[in-house]
Amino acid sequence: MPLQGRCVGAGLDRNHHQVTQMYRGNMASTDEKFGLSQWRGEFVDAELEGDFRQHAAESAAHDLRLALWAWIALLILLSALDFSLLGFISSEFFVIAFRVLLIAGLIALIYRSRKNPQLATSGFAVTALEMVGFLSFFLLYFSHPGTIIYTIVISLLMLIAVFVVIPNRVVPATVVALFASIGTLYCAYLLDAAKVTYMYLLAFLSSSCALGYLAARRQHLTQRRQFALLRETEIINRRLNAEIEQRKLLEKELKQQAITDPLTGLYNRRHFESLFDHELRRAARKKSQLCLCLIDLDYFKRVNDQHGHEAGDRVLQHAAKLFVDSLRKTDVVGRIGGEEFVLLLPDSEIDSARLLIERLRHGLAVEHLQIGDVAIGVTATFAVTRVDPEHDTLLTAMRAADKALYEGKAVGRNCVVIAAS
Ligand code: GH3
Ligand code: MG
Ligand code: MG
Repeated sequence: MPLQGRCVGAGLDRNHHQVTQMYRGNMASTDEKFGLSQWRGEFVDAELEGDFRQHAAESAAHDLRLALWAWIALLILLSALDFSLLGFISSEFFVIAFRVLLIAGLIALIYRSRKNPQLATSGFAVTALEMVGFLSFFLLYFSHPGTIIYTIVISLLMLIAVFVVIPNRVVPATVVALFASIGTLYCAYLLDAAKVTYMYLLAFLSSSCALGYLAARRQHLTQRRQFALLRETEIINRRLNAEIEQRKLLEKELKQQAITDPLTGLYNRRHFESLFDHELRRAARKKSQLCLCLIDLDYFKRVNDQHGHEAGDRVLQHAAKLFVDSLRKTDVVGRIGGEEFVLLLPDSEIDSARLLIERLRHGLAVEHLQIGDVAIGVTATFAVTRVDPEHDTLLTAMRAADKALYEGKAVGRNCVVIAAS
């Protein structure tokens, strides 16, 4: 749909500018932008016009029903007046038959419009009934020659009502008004009206048509301008919401990037440090045990040299995944250097930590990484240290683990060393 297409494609600032411009009353450009036909009082774009009618159908149908009930009441009143003024005359029969038919049509439209409110905005049904209504006026000129002047006055009122009271589109309402005007003039001609009467009649009818048309056109244009603004605001809101969602996602992503290592997805050194502080305080509060484990892959340089750097990266990811999968959710896993990892094991005694880490060492040693035809095996040296929440810091714990790691490398690698406390 053009309105949506234009707004979605445009920048947010431009949309905002467009909306404020409209409120400043820049209606000519607004109508041009929305494609509003000035003489029809409708959107040029059929799809947009269809959307508007669907949007307006319920309230238009409600107004239509009220207007039709009023019309029925008027017909009954007119019949009562005719009867009281003239009594029953033979020519009355046709008029009454016509009115009964018309009332049946009006009631049918009232009930149909409940199920199908679109009847009120499409205009066809009401246009047909209005034509029949004016035909019954034409009959009156001949059947009730004594009340011609009243018939003309009521016809003029009905002409205005066709434009502003009975919901209908501008073009069909104009067609009905022209039909009524020409029909009335023709009746005057058939009744041999005086030239001056004829001229006055022409003036009254044409001014009623012009006034009615202008009022209806204005009402239709205003309704559609409001609808177009509403649609535009909805589009801007949707875009704003989408932008907010996108920013939230971006923020989350940036936050994640700030705390993780992009290759393995493990926590980076900085975040590990803050998690360590947190766990240390928690362990001190709960008087629980805490262990830290440093891991350094063995002869990793060789992996790179033999299989390439890319394969080396895959091995690092493989090791990281194995560590994460083998540990509890509450354990913390970080990558603190090229091929160096660190684990923090809350609520763990040193003996159970040793068993766990031994399983980890064995798992890594036996689970080779298959890349194409090549199976790459890698081992690591693990250094475990008990952390005393009262006296240790990350620095002292790391220093102890580092020393044990050095020892592990010295005794041949692929082993678990417990740091001396
Ligand atoms: P050791 O058993 O004594 O630890 O031997 P090593 O070869 O593992 O130790 P060294 O410190 O000599 O080599 C570490 C290698 O890790 C060197 C470096 O190229 C490699 N490395 C560091 N970061 C990365 C990385 O992100 N990707 C890859 N593929 N290799 C890395
Ligand atoms: Mg190293
Ligand atoms: Mg190494």
